[in-house]
Amino acid sequence: MRMPELPEVETIVRGLDSQISGKTIEKITVFDEELLRNVDTSELKREFEGEDLTAVRRKGKYILLEIGGDRLLAVHLRMTGKMLLREKGEETDYQRISFRFRGNGQLIMDNMRRFGTLDLLTDEKQEPLVSLGIEPFTDSYRWKDFRELFETTQPLKLVLLDQKKITGLGNIYSNEALFRAGLNPLIPGEDASESGLKKLYETIPKVLEEAIEQNGTTFSTYRDSSGDSGNFQNFLDVYQKEGERCPRCGSEIIKVDQSGRGTYYCPKCQEGKEEGGG
Ligand SMILES: [Zn+2]
Repeated sequence: MRMPELPEVETIVRGLDSQISGKTIEKITVFDEELLRNVDTSELKREFEGEDLTAVRRKGKYILLEIGGDRLLAVHLRMTGKMLLREKGEETDYQRISFRFRGNGQLIMDNMRRFGTLDLLTDEKQEPLVSLGIEPFTDSYRWKDFRELFETTQPLKLVLLDQKKITGLGNIYSNEALFRAGLNPLIPGEDASESGLKKLYETIPKVLEEAIEQNGTTFSTYRDSSGDSGNFQNFLDVYQKEGERCPRCGSEIIKVDQSGRGTYYCPKCQEGKEEGGG
């Protein structure tokens, strides 16, 4: 089980934006109030039924439904969440909230394990969005700020996973970016070479871009808004490749546990000596 990362969320957002922006929300049905934050069912219906969905955007791993031009519903999919476009009257296995549109179609927030959330916000300066860290593909992603995040004893991969430092990366793309930059995921940020960090800074948007081009990575539950799988799992170098050959030097890829999540790397061509391991 894993959480969608920036490329998967971006793929979902692009699909939704092209298919439902401009539609009018006719009826909202909440099947499970547990997912609601800062809003309850009656307020959601009162505020948004009859309003236009003006755009669908992304911030970090959040899907932002912009409604009536001035309010945002921020959806986080967590582990098993999906945003599915269906015909009116259709149901999905774990539907939690449905937005039915005037004319045809509905958007269903489907969430098997119920960890997903839907927040009502008036702008992006509110939690949970305001505390997100610098973000690839935006003006906030600058070398100077990126460099500063690594002046820490925290291991490189854990810096990348911290959404308050850099937002959008999860376990897959952190492993892949560190491999491409030739950096050992276990070494403290402050021990990484300047050139290695520069390479990491440059490679992160590239890895994410390539993954977006492949509509993300699917291992288990991730699907885009049409219910289709991603394809980037076929282009991974190290993630879930333990025991296989490093595509660069032929050494064996190893896996270690790092804060409860699998870290995959090539001990030969990812620079830096770890201190105390993971
Ligand atoms: Zn190698």
